[in-house]
Amino acid sequence: MKRNITGKNNGVGNGNLFKQDSFRILAVIIILCVMMCVVWNVSSDKDGINVNGVHGDISNSESGYSYENKDMLRIVISEEDCKNGDLMLVNKDNSYNSTPENLVSVLEHSNKTYNVSDYNVQLNLRVCEALNSWLGEFYREYGETDLLVASGYRSVETQESIYNDDVSEKGQNITDKWVAVPGSSEHHTGLAVDMSIYDIYNSITEEFDGEGIYKNLLETCHEYGFIVRYPKDKTDVTGIDYEPWHFRFVGKGHSSYIMDNNLCLEEYIEELKKHGEENPLRFSYDGVDYGVFRVDSANLPYETFIPNGYQYNISNDNCGGIIVTYFSK
Ligand SMILES: [Zn+2]
Repeated sequence: MKRNITGKNNGVGNGNLFKQDSFRILAVIIILCVMMCVVWNVSSDKDGINVNGVHGDISNSESGYSYENKDMLRIVISEEDCKNGDLMLVNKDNSYNSTPENLVSVLEHSNKTYNVSDYNVQLNLRVCEALNSWLGEFYREYGETDLLVASGYRSVETQESIYNDDVSEKGQNITDKWVAVPGSSEHHTGLAVDMSIYDIYNSITEEFDGEGIYKNLLETCHEYGFIVRYPKDKTDVTGIDYEPWHFRFVGKGHSSYIMDNNLCLEEYIEELKKHGEENPLRFSYDGVDYGVFRVDSANLPYETFIPNGYQYNISNDNCGGIIVTYFSK
């Protein structure tokens, strides 16, 4: 035996050498274990911070933390993340009980490519920015027009006085066709906007009928995240007559899917109830891939996984669910 790997027959001195080597190897293993544990904990913490944002950028996640599939990223949906969101369904069956976020004056934030009735017209900031892009493009196409942004956020009290005035003027039946019951108006969310036409000669606003050049707005709104919320052929589902002037922000991707498939928001939310984390609704628009799924609000806080390298956002649907949307850059 030229080489003794056990050290048993090498006398006392060599035996000590073997013990020293063993200790060294053991020490190295222990140090490695400790280092791995530290790295693991840091990764977990990073993930915890990364995933709790409503709008998360997961593409730069350094952690690589996952349970089984390295291509998936763990997210934890907490109750605080989902008080609002672009996909809130507000109607006579689902009243709005939250507080709108990031309201801004449209006139102050406007890119000056359209008219606004006054400083009191407010919208959510990201809706206002989408409105600027959309109406900015309309302005580039048609130049200066009489388009007027007439109404945005409304408090429940304001809706109450509009509703009561309408009832005393036109009667209950007609009012219920056009005016939402206070608490069940989309305008409470800051995500809905009403268009009008400014009449320069007698300073009154006229009804926006979506005809002529304004038809363009009905056709292009989805490219900027808006939908015609009360379409002509969906009055039996929405319970509201055709309102070509009322646009609702639901976010890009969702808006195109809704319009392409001839849905109204009620039907889209119903469709999403069929898509859990195992079978997300998948579609692509404008070179962006989307995956959408719904989680029951009763299960919060909820841990789920989305593909690595995607961005995501979370929205309450205001009818018992949380909708997770992930999308490629
Ligand atoms: Zn409206």
